[in-house]
Amino acid sequence: DPDPTLRPDPLPEDRDRALRPQMLEDFIGQAEARANLRVFIQSARSRGEAMDHTLFHGPPGLGKTTLAQIMARELGVGFRMTSGPVLAKAGDLAAILTNLERNDVLFIDEIHRMNAAVEEVLYPAMEDYELDLVIGEGPAARTVRIELQPFTLVGATTRLGLLTTPLRDRFGIPTRLNFYTIPELETIVAGNASKLGVRMEGDGALEIARRSRGTPRIAGRLLRRVVDFAVVEGGGVVSRALADNALTRLGVDSLGLDGADRRYLMLMAENYGGGPVGIETLSAALSESRDALEEVVEPYLLQQGLISRTPRGRMLAQKAWKHLGLAAPVPPGQ
Ligand code: ADP
Repeated sequence: DPDPTLRPDPLPEDRDRALRPQMLEDFIGQAEARANLRVFIQSARSRGEAMDHTLFHGPPGLGKTTLAQIMARELGVGFRMTSGPVLAKAGDLAAILTNLERNDVLFIDEIHRMNAAVEEVLYPAMEDYELDLVIGEGPAARTVRIELQPFTLVGATTRLGLLTTPLRDRFGIPTRLNFYTIPELETIVAGNASKLGVRMEGDGALEIARRSRGTPRIAGRLLRRVVDFAVVEGGGVVSRALADNALTRLGVDSLGLDGADRRYLMLMAENYGGGPVGIETLSAALSESRDALEEVVEPYLLQQGLISRTPRGRMLAQKAWKHLGLAAPVPPGQ
């Protein structure tokens, strides 16, 4: 083995891997999803069968990939991973499916972005563990049926509404992941800090948790940045004051909103009197894709009660006016 002291720092992804909870027991939060998964995993294990196909949906960074990996580990089976946009042709998926071993977990991230030809291959595979391959072209074309090993498909999507109904219906276990509570995030941050060998003091972990947008991935990222400040300016110790100062300098405000969130809210306040504004209008004015607004920005603003959705468009809520330090316009006739 090479001298370990000569090894370069691990890549960010490797460090990320080291922080990922490995078993269901280590996974914090999502109590309902976890309790159900525990039952389905145990049942599949004792029957020696593939677990039913599972769909995780919810905003990015809430643990969909992590849970899929945990499922494979708890089931004692192999884990294969791909994503909707990567599967260009039916043959790409067919190649993966025919290489699966008995009861393996196949994880497809961003499953709503799979094209129709690929999706067609998935239906008989999910339903009967069979593959219908078309060989040849024109009048000479014929279909060959290939038997697959039983497997569990785990799909992940940030946009449940974009899944076709036939695909959605083929998942026996649809599971919604929700934003994490502040105490849950505090536990995750404290756990990650101790894995990274960082000293936390007072309410350092709580301050990071409060400003993580309900999202473990963001909590992990903010912790790393705060640790940078602690190393350089805080003698290596993360206190509440140090975390607060570091996060403010990084542009993360007291509610955990970042620059993109505040631009969205300010635009609604200053240019549209708080709405209602259509999503296309907001997307054009902010030069952000509609998808990014709907998948990443809006879910947390909605959950925090900063905006609401109406049939005529988005509206700024009272809490947002207050947070921006602006006076809400008085409705006519009051
Ligand atoms: P998604 O697939 O939903 O985008 P991931 O599973 O990739 O999210 O999780 C993002 C990051 O957050 C990972 O680094 C993961 O380790 C961490 N994470 C997610 N959920 C938890 C949790 N419940 N406890 C601890 N860390 C978590």
